[in-house]
Amino acid sequence: METVKSICPFCGVGCGVELYVESSTIIRLSPVKEHVVSRGHLCGKGTLAYEPIFAWDRLTYPLKKVKGEHIRISWEIAIKEIASKLKEIIQQYGSDAIAFYGGCQNTLEEDYLMQKLARAMGTNNIDSCARVCHDPSATALKEMVGIGASSVSVEMIPRMKVVVITGESITESHPVLSQYLTEAKKNGTKLIVIDPRVTGTAKFSDLHLRLRPGTDIALFNAIGNYLIENSLIDEKFIKERVIGFEEYAKGVSKYELEYAEKVTGVRRENIKKFAELIAQKGVIFSWGLGLTQSSGVNGVRAYINLALLTGNIGKNGGLLVFRGQTNVQGSGDLLKPDKFPNGTMDEENAKKLAEIWNFLPPTKPGLSVTEALLRDNNIRAIIFMGFNPLISLPNREKVERKLKSLDLLVVIDAFMTETASLAHYVLPAAVWAEKEGSVTNLDRLVKWRFKTIDPPGEAKPDYEILKKLAEELGYNFSSDPKEIFEEIKKVVPLYSNLTLDEIMDYSTNSRYPNHEIYLYDEKFYTETNKAKLIFVEQPEVKNGIILITVRNVTRYNTDVITGRIPGYGKYESLIYISNEDALELKIRDNEEVLVTSECGKMNFRVMISKDVQKGTAIMYMHDPKVNYIICDELDEITKTPKYKYTEIKIMKLN
Ligand code: SF4
Repeated sequence: METVKSICPFCGVGCGVELYVESSTIIRLSPVKEHVVSRGHLCGKGTLAYEPIFAWDRLTYPLKKVKGEHIRISWEIAIKEIASKLKEIIQQYGSDAIAFYGGCQNTLEEDYLMQKLARAMGTNNIDSCARVCHDPSATALKEMVGIGASSVSVEMIPRMKVVVITGESITESHPVLSQYLTEAKKNGTKLIVIDPRVTGTAKFSDLHLRLRPGTDIALFNAIGNYLIENSLIDEKFIKERVIGFEEYAKGVSKYELEYAEKVTGVRRENIKKFAELIAQKGVIFSWGLGLTQSSGVNGVRAYINLALLTGNIGKNGGLLVFRGQTNVQGSGDLLKPDKFPNGTMDEENAKKLAEIWNFLPPTKPGLSVTEALLRDNNIRAIIFMGFNPLISLPNREKVERKLKSLDLLVVIDAFMTETASLAHYVLPAAVWAEKEGSVTNLDRLVKWRFKTIDPPGEAKPDYEILKKLAEELGYNFSSDPKEIFEEIKKVVPLYSNLTLDEIMDYSTNSRYPNHEIYLYDEKFYTETNKAKLIFVEQPEVKNGIILITVRNVTRYNTDVITGRIPGYGKYESLIYISNEDALELKIRDNEEVLVTSECGKMNFRVMISKDVQKGTAIMYMHDPKVNYIICDELDEITKTPKYKYTEIKIMKLN
């Protein structure tokens, strides 16, 4: 029996897996003991990750929609027709009428190739699903400390005095990281959870600040003010390494504890207790989508301010972002419509890229995937790579209208997803174990996936599909992942110090930029080498019941893959509400109700839960019906949807 090492295809922990192959079939999977992050652990979902590879409904040949039906065509015809349609659309409407949107399921090399092809065709309309989750984190981190990624690695967790987890439940979303929390608790680390819900992680926390949704900024500003007023800040650190203190202090001075208590619902004694706990060295501030998908970039800025005020950066602590998908950090590093992979989108960087690419990329910023599908624009053709926006984006009816209005919709995927069913062309893709390439996890660890088996039928790795399309369009790009990785190193400064040997060795710390397990001990990677405090205001808070989407430990994103794990079955639509709201609305457990929001309505079955607080409702993000009622309110800066901040009404049906 042959064994091949790879990386779990699901969450951003990126656990190491060992696949056992017999007669071209993977018969089981086990954890890689020496993997620097997962350390011989896997969660239940990861242990079954190989099963969907052999699902009966894998796509095995290219399809074209003819008279409403998908029919089989050859690769040659598919690529020729797609290329010719793209050229026709560019001729008629210009290059910015086409767009390429990739998935964080893809490797760094595939993402890199996709943006290169889009730019060769004259557009910056490229993006990844990092847009819908942690782009607010990457944006705030980049401007405040220099790199849009976690500053600390997970192995720092057990060394800390305090770990703050905001808007994230590790036990449900990143289960393998629970080992670090358990170790930390044994070492006496205090665990603080900030979340409206009683999550699995909140249940074993030392302090749970159960704030109202969308009030994060009020809470963080009041804590900042309390730290300043009570001389709990690190004055030396601020003086030497931070800019913007006066403006920040002036801004937060009106955020008194009394106001914060009223707005957030968190008792002032607990706010004080929190402030006092973080006013020591050895604190990690970590967060997940609960922060980014409700308060956006400003919420993340307000939170990072606390780490800077207390000097908890470098070996003293830092910032840890719980990212959702295996390569979401990498996709966000490479695929941005307003940035080049080598930095800001300007003439100088365009010229540097032209020296390597042999063509000059355009410098007009492109459209993000949320702008492309949820706002007015002139896009006529979209190629999606491992992305199912019909289910994952908010305001499903609006997304469907846009997708149906396109002159050309191409979906590259392993399964007939809901988005693929609308496509003019569907191209069958190889999945993670059927190809090779690298991925970047949530704490900047870059690792290589080794090819284990061949893809079924005529399915191909995305890098080969992109190469074929590029060739038909007249571009000669390498599709060899190792060659592409070497090119990424030349282009993207963060990756320049890594070698193929070290990313292929699972026991090596191959974190970018310089193998550091913590960043910024001596300097920040900003223009001034100093960090920046940024004051932001708490916006008006929504009333009524606020719907929050969360993860289920057995599911993964739009459930395309986990829905095909035998035994997991199909997802059942449920809405969880508090006992208090159920009593007020006279709704019983298990009863069907009508849920309405500004953009839609839908029936759901109710579950009454003591873990849900009054004025909030919980649904799983994997539910195919949830985005009928989540509206397309976007973060002003990053255009990230506010999935965790929709005002709804719940009505009894009879
Ligand atoms: Fe896979 Fe995440 Fe589970 Fe690890 S924690 S096995 S990466 S799903």
